[in-house]
Amino acid sequence: MELGKVMQQVKERDAAPAEKGEGLGGQKELEEMVLKAGLCTGCGACVNICPYQASYRDKTVTLHSCDLTRGRCYDFCPRTPADLGALQRKLYDESDITPELGAMRGFFITRATDTAIRRQSQHGGTVTALITLALREGLIDAAVLAGEGEGLLPQAVTVSDPETAGRLGKSRFVVSPTVAEFNRAIRTECRQIGVVATPCQALALAKMRTQSVTATEGGIEKLQLVIGLFCGWALSWRDLSTVLKEKMDLASITGMDIPPSRYHTLEVYTRGETIRISLDEINLCVRESCHSCGDMTAEFSDLSVGSARLPEGWETARQWNQVIVRTERGLDLLELARRRGILEFKEVPGGNLEKLKAASLNKKRVAATRPSVGNGSGDSYRQAG
Ligand SMILES: Cc1cc2nc3c(=O)[nH]c(=O)nc-3n(C[C@H](O)[C@H](O)[C@H](O)COP(=O)(O)OP(=O)(O)OC[C@H]3O[C@@H](n4cnc5c(N)ncnc54)[C@H](O)[C@@H]3O)c2cc1C
Repeated sequence: MELGKVMQQVKERDAAPAEKGEGLGGQKELEEMVLKAGLCTGCGACVNICPYQASYRDKTVTLHSCDLTRGRCYDFCPRTPADLGALQRKLYDESDITPELGAMRGFFITRATDTAIRRQSQHGGTVTALITLALREGLIDAAVLAGEGEGLLPQAVTVSDPETAGRLGKSRFVVSPTVAEFNRAIRTECRQIGVVATPCQALALAKMRTQSVTATEGGIEKLQLVIGLFCGWALSWRDLSTVLKEKMDLASITGMDIPPSRYHTLEVYTRGETIRISLDEINLCVRESCHSCGDMTAEFSDLSVGSARLPEGWETARQWNQVIVRTERGLDLLELARRRGILEFKEVPGGNLEKLKAASLNKKRVAATRPSVGNGSGDSYRQAG
């Protein structure tokens, strides 16, 4: 499908609430339109701003009913209607906005120079290197990250010590209630907060930054840096645990990754061996809400980081990252990392940006056909391998 048509579909799906005839809402609307519709991402944007919503495992639950007709829970949710184009124009330089990847000031291939960081990271360790640099340089005094929790559930944590941040790398494919933790952190003494966020989490933060209701509450100005993660989907904790329990001892898992789509596998690393599971099985574990997400590259961040694609093949590429820089703040941080020798840069192979654009557009196309809950193959979201 050509670009114009996909973008028109996306625009219609994400039209401003007023255009779609949908008003602003409160907890009741959140419950009907998001939680009961299976669209909740588990990000926790509605948690820790009122006592009625809570994170439980990888879900968000309602503890008590609330009859306010307008609530931050609804406003901040990444799955309630929003004019994403208008949001982009508010937060980014309009001349940087591309239809496929959002705002883009530069596209790079990088990795951490510190081999200890790389060993504890998912790919090239770019995210961990940038977060630890931002903490060390005082650009932020706290970072909200997803650390290892129990039994495949990540634990959202706020850290101030660069050494600790350096040990919290690696991707956890079950959702982390990162925004709930951010909502808690802004009420503490932290003054400048950085967040590592998946696309839905970054969108929730963007909604907080632009909605007038936030201004009356204060705190959002503490958000100083958003490092986005490319994301095809996240997995349901219950479903993933069920699949993996049959094949291994969950306590022995040290990490996971999804190589390029032609491998069609989830790799699970245990102490001792790598177990490969077909994506046919894993696709059944994808969170329902992820099928409705059209953002593969965390468009609402300062810079976004994903796995790299290199002509040398996956074994080399997996040790590098692709980085989209979106804002001046993001560019300043990347350039600082270059000057300090924190990141190593590699020439971007011809065609990489076009492939990423195509993969991103594919995710938008699939999501545009699923205005609510979908059930298709998550594999089609991934970067072409
Ligand atoms: C659910 C999920 C799906 C992804 N899908 C893709 C994909 O389709 N294509 C692609 O190219 N890349 C994808 N990624 C990103 C990729 O796995 C790496 O995170 C990215 O390449 C950065 O690598 P790194 O070595 O710089 O990260 P690291 O230096 O290891 O840092 C990883 C950071 O991610 C944070 N984190 C880990 N798990 C979560 C989580 N569940 N929620 C929020 N933050 C988390 C950690 O706090 C840490 O700061 C996905 C990541 C996640 C979490």
